[in-house]
Amino acid sequence: MSLLVVGSIAIDSIETPFGKAEEVLGGSAVYIALAAGYFSAPVRLVGVVGSDFPKKYVEFLEEKDIDVDGLQIIPDGKTFRWGGRYHYDMNVRDTLYTELNVFEHFNPELPPNYRKVSYVCLGNIDPVLQEQVLLQMEHPRLVVGDTMNFWIERKRAELLKTLSMIDVLVLNDSETRLLAQEPNLIKAARTIIGMGPRFVIIKKGEHGALLISEKMFFSAPAYPIEVINDPTGAGDAFAGGLIGWIAKTDDQSEENLKRAVIYGSVMASFCVERFGVDRLKDLTYLEIQNRFRSFRELSRFDEETIFP
Ligand code: AMP
Repeated sequence: MSLLVVGSIAIDSIETPFGKAEEVLGGSAVYIALAAGYFSAPVRLVGVVGSDFPKKYVEFLEEKDIDVDGLQIIPDGKTFRWGGRYHYDMNVRDTLYTELNVFEHFNPELPPNYRKVSYVCLGNIDPVLQEQVLLQMEHPRLVVGDTMNFWIERKRAELLKTLSMIDVLVLNDSETRLLAQEPNLIKAARTIIGMGPRFVIIKKGEHGALLISEKMFFSAPAYPIEVINDPTGAGDAFAGGLIGWIAKTDDQSEENLKRAVIYGSVMASFCVERFGVDRLKDLTYLEIQNRFRSFRELSRFDEETIFP
């Protein structure tokens, strides 16, 4: 099944207590597309870069079977740049700079063959741009969307409009509370379901993820990773594994969404092992499958009870 990904395409500079990476390929769409591509290729990419965007990065995306027909390259434009520094507690991150550059005037225009695509993943960008993409699609079967504090605070009305067109919303815990204006995560998720999405997925970083619909609740375990070098893009890799699995199987049942949440967690757990997109470059299917099985083992227990 075909899959479309829209989001930022960036040149990132990242510092963590374990090292740094300067001017590397990043952006929400890149992480999503790389992770999703292991399940459902080719991924159709929609985004914008400037003429300073290294040609080797475009070639790399093509090598990974990512369709770049929807990538706009603006002559004399400067690519979106983001810099981040993580603390020893890697849940804490300082954004050093966000230079929107070509993103400020981005007008996503879908090539005709992108409009019929069945599965869509909206990476974290301005909700107005997310809506613009959806309005060009013919009949998507499922739309997964991501957002962040920045848009919840600054473009709430626009975000609420886009939310009415999203089936599965992926957020972290603080974004969930902020959007719903409710401290309890389960109540907050149900409030968000009232805004449009059928499912809300709350990513809790190293503590796993929750999948919530009006009637069901599923808690995915956290994988005990011993080597974490760089958490950048983990949330996007999660969204990529999730939509990639749903597109591959073309199955939106609740049971399959649970599997998709685990595949999302698998891709996020790989992502953090190395800097930038490095670990997502050359995974094998065997590695992905083995980690999926390890996730299952993590929360499996038998039904014996000590009570009479
Ligand atoms: P995450 O770690 O999931 O927040 O994603 C990090 C990626 O998002 C980096 O590669 C950045 O280039 C990109 N990013 C950071 N801030 C923004 C923003 N305001 N809009 C779009 N993309 C962003």
